[in-house]
Amino acid sequence: MSPRIEHDAGPPGHHAAGLFAAAAMHRDGDGNALHAPVLVLNASYEPINVCAARRALVLVLKGVAMTEEENGHFLHAARIAMRVPSVIRLLEYRRIPHQSRALSRKNILLRDRNTCQYCATVLPSGELTLDHVIPRSRGGSSTWENLVACCHPCNRRKGNQFPLEVGMKLMREPRAFNLHTSRHIMRLMGRSDDKWRKYLFY
Ligand SMILES: [Zn+2]
Repeated sequence: MSPRIEHDAGPPGHHAAGLFAAAAMHRDGDGNALHAPVLVLNASYEPINVCAARRALVLVLKGVAMTEEENGHFLHAARIAMRVPSVIRLLEYRRIPHQSRALSRKNILLRDRNTCQYCATVLPSGELTLDHVIPRSRGGSSTWENLVACCHPCNRRKGNQFPLEVGMKLMREPRAFNLHTSRHIMRLMGRSDDKWRKYLFY
């Protein structure tokens, strides 16, 4: 299924930025549709990522990906109306290296599912901090294997100690965010979108 551009406004892609600037003014109360999660499939149909609808539309407009499923919303911008995708597929197969995810606060929280890794409390992102398992002051580095989601009380309690020194224990060994982890998260998210199911539960 190719992207449906009802009135072709010339070669797509080149004015994607302008399109979204216009879309910001013409979103018909559907602004959230541009932030909705979209499942990204490799050319082989293997799920490889989740991105925001806005990014997915740019990929479709650039001819890098095609829409496989729509989410029922339209993006009205300039002289075109586009159906907002729910699932897109890359047109060229992309090799996905393991551990390709950027080390960031957001991704650490995603990996740890917003759960304090010491007391198992689940909290909103804003109420969690990152803890260096081996404290920085004692040579710990900022790596996937040494950073975990942590609530403020646990973080204060642990201070500059090793977990064992203060009788704390990690729920599980922190690992790099690999494709397996991403798939697990995509499965969790897929429960809220029926259109993702056939690509995720295989
Ligand atoms: Zn905690």
